[in-house]
Amino acid sequence: MTTRQWVYRFDELDSAERYVGGSWEDVRALFGGKGANLAEMVRIGVPVPPGFIVTTEACNVYLEAGGIFPEGMWDQVLQALHTIEADTGKTFGDPRQPLLVSCRSGAKFSMPGMMDTVLNIGLNDLTAQAMVNLTGDERFVFDAYRRLIQMFGSVVMGVADEVFEHVLTAARQKAGVTVESDLQAADWKEVTDRFKNVFRNHTQIDFPQDPLEQLRMATEAVFKSWNGKRAVDYRNAANIPHDLGTAVNIVTMVFGNMGNDCATGVAMTRNGSTGEPGLEGDFLINAQGEDVVAGIRMTEDITTMAASFPEAYEELCSIANKLELHYRDMQDMEFTIEKGKLWMLQTRDGKRTARAAVRIAVDMTREGLISMDQAVLRISPEQIDFFLHPQFDPAAIADARSHGRMVARGLNVSPGAAGGLVVFEADLAETWTKRDGKKVILVRPETKPDDVHGLLAAQGVLTSRGGRTSHAALVARQFGKPAVVGVAALEIDLSKREMRCGETLIREGDVISIDGNTGEVFLGELPTMLPDIKDPWLIDLLSWADEYRTLGVWANADYPEDARRARSYGAQGIGLCRSEHMFFETDRLPLFQKMIMARLPVDQREALDALLPFQRDDFAGLFREMDGMPVIIRLIDPPLHEFLPDLVELMGQLSDLKLRIRDAGTLPDIDALLEEIRIKERLREQAEKLKEQNPMLGMRGVRLGIHIPDLTKMQVRAIFEAACLVTREGVTVLPKIMIPLVGHANELKVQREALEAEAQAVMAEQNLKIDYKFGTMIELPRAALTADQIAEYAEFFSYGTNDLTQTTYGISRDDAESGFLIEYVGKGILPENPFATLDEDGVVQLMKIGVDKGRSVRPDLECGICGEHGGDPRSIALCHSLGLTYVSCSPFRVPIARLAAAHAALRKK
Ligand code: ADP
Ligand code: MG
Ligand code: MG
Repeated sequence: MTTRQWVYRFDELDSAERYVGGSWEDVRALFGGKGANLAEMVRIGVPVPPGFIVTTEACNVYLEAGGIFPEGMWDQVLQALHTIEADTGKTFGDPRQPLLVSCRSGAKFSMPGMMDTVLNIGLNDLTAQAMVNLTGDERFVFDAYRRLIQMFGSVVMGVADEVFEHVLTAARQKAGVTVESDLQAADWKEVTDRFKNVFRNHTQIDFPQDPLEQLRMATEAVFKSWNGKRAVDYRNAANIPHDLGTAVNIVTMVFGNMGNDCATGVAMTRNGSTGEPGLEGDFLINAQGEDVVAGIRMTEDITTMAASFPEAYEELCSIANKLELHYRDMQDMEFTIEKGKLWMLQTRDGKRTARAAVRIAVDMTREGLISMDQAVLRISPEQIDFFLHPQFDPAAIADARSHGRMVARGLNVSPGAAGGLVVFEADLAETWTKRDGKKVILVRPETKPDDVHGLLAAQGVLTSRGGRTSHAALVARQFGKPAVVGVAALEIDLSKREMRCGETLIREGDVISIDGNTGEVFLGELPTMLPDIKDPWLIDLLSWADEYRTLGVWANADYPEDARRARSYGAQGIGLCRSEHMFFETDRLPLFQKMIMARLPVDQREALDALLPFQRDDFAGLFREMDGMPVIIRLIDPPLHEFLPDLVELMGQLSDLKLRIRDAGTLPDIDALLEEIRIKERLREQAEKLKEQNPMLGMRGVRLGIHIPDLTKMQVRAIFEAACLVTREGVTVLPKIMIPLVGHANELKVQREALEAEAQAVMAEQNLKIDYKFGTMIELPRAALTADQIAEYAEFFSYGTNDLTQTTYGISRDDAESGFLIEYVGKGILPENPFATLDEDGVVQLMKIGVDKGRSVRPDLECGICGEHGGDPRSIALCHSLGLTYVSCSPFRVPIARLAAAHAALRKK
């Protein structure tokens, strides 16, 4: 029986490929990322010091066996070592021409939790002397030797770093120098001896003099590090499987620290923060690899290498090109120059900011390195989000975290970074911003429609309650304001105008910062940076995405400004205008309340007539912005009590007024107070009458329209009068009237008949024909299940997936997200929050039934989605599979949705 091949030389990539069946993924799994790339570089003729890889399979077998090398592995290591010896003309442990190697870990995915590298393996008292004879450089040799003992001690034997650092500090003090690089040969010799003592004291063994013993122990340490706590924790956090194992890379040492014709450095083939072409990196003359990253010495910019090492620099540039051409991606390289000769020690796909990622993908397409669809697929929707919002400087975040200024964490419901003075009340937020020019963060237990002006004035919003579809979250996303909600740890005391967060007390006027990307809350202000949505590379990338997607991207917009923004971000229509939002404006709310309070039909009519011009103007504004594109207006949806003041608040105001009567001096004063009390009493009565146990399941949506037909008729009149008005201005209008919360076809039938008559009436009055449609929301399970009946009366469907999820699950979205839903997701009972990503097995099935049944009656039925899910990339992919016509999301998510829709189309191919 032949034993398995556990060890591959760098030049044996072909045989590894045959073994795993050829795919690069599998080679990376077998060799680890570092090893696979080293072998690949050898294959394409890039200079890499000779070396070999002990496979991840060997690691797994070793670990399973409880710490025994698989049969034949060590012999294969020795054999590979001999080949290297032959290649280099050096011998491991040879007192004349010693071979030194590094021992490096490398898993399939780069893992910061894993064992580090041990350099200079093969040095001992004998070979060190041989190296001195060979190089004539005692300083270099003992520096290298002490590094080996130090690395071996800490990495292989687990001796604390400080132990060695103490010795180094003492040596510097004794020699009277401040930096290590000023220590001389005698100093390093002495440090080496001390390190050996320290090693013995902390490990109870002598530093192993046998090079093979060194190599064996280092190899075992790499294997074992796979199951080290840090590595396991990291894999858990990063969702990396635990059964991959790590490979070990044994690489001939090359030295960047043998004099001034030597150097070492790191370089990216393009700029990692901007994506600009050209090498970016650092290097150090006369230094060993670790020194560059360790930051002990000031590094030099890579471009200065052109002057100090012209030939090596030119070679590095051409290798950079070669690697990019080969990998078709930006590379992050490590290199060392030994006596003028360049050696590559590592390459991998480089990390980059979102901005750089976009530019690199677009540039590489133009350079012919990748195709257009590859460029589109390379950028994630989340990376697009980066361009739309201010971000905290990553260094500032790290600093704040390490200084304990991160005080709480909640749900990251609307991305971006914001800082400002804490304000507990919407009016004050507006005053401080508008009057005093201050930046504020609105902090509330939760927000309500009448807080919107404060939210708009604020830089961001923070609430202690509520979830992903809470009012604060919806509005914040709508307007692109950073928001963190559901911060359970916050105890807000509105009366004292302060909040407590554990030990920390924060008062109104104190400065905080919130990170809508992570949900973190910080004390004090963190510096922000503003990315640019007009980035020319981004514009190109998104226009390419548009060529691939089949799904339309529309936006939810209530105001002309939103519509303008949505359009400039690439929206192709308005999928949802919530017509009632207009009633919350301060000049209209009293009129609307009057309508609700009216006892006589004439009073109600009067109030509605007064509201009509406002609505007409609003719609006209929206139509003008969306010239030539469809605009879906949803008729009033929320229950009426939402437009009235809170009952408890009213009671308080009433008892206040009654007290004031006692102190009132004059009769007219008393009269005025009495009048006010009468009005408030009426409000209270009405609020009490409208109070429902389950308003979400109560008098709202189409039910309201059927109950007060004049209300929705007024809205339809406003829509058609506005449409006629702007048509005369030369605008092309495509209004679509959407009726919410239909559960039974008859509801739609009745309501549509009434509204259609009104529409016809307006068009007759105006003597104009408008191209319009009537449709409905599908947001109740019954509507989806009876979509064929509903489609008889609906010319389009729009899935309201917030309500549909709520009613499918029977979960209140307003309460659950800050309550048991979090627990459910935490315990894995639900794979994820169904209000964030569509529930594929439940809600999506209902949607599918709806699409199929609806289109069975009307084959060309337009079906869209206007719930929050319309801006979520994974939900967008599901919408694509369902064959929806479009997704509609908040204007700020439009660019993200464009890309996500392209991804969905490309991945389905
Ligand atoms: P990491 O994964 O932490 O980057 P590496 O295995 O790449 O660890 O090695 C750490 C440092 O040691 C790097 O700067 C690398 O270039 C250097 N290094 C590793 N092997 C050798 C070698 N054979 N000769 C010279 N330098 C080396
Ligand atoms: Mg490295
Ligand atoms: Mg709804």
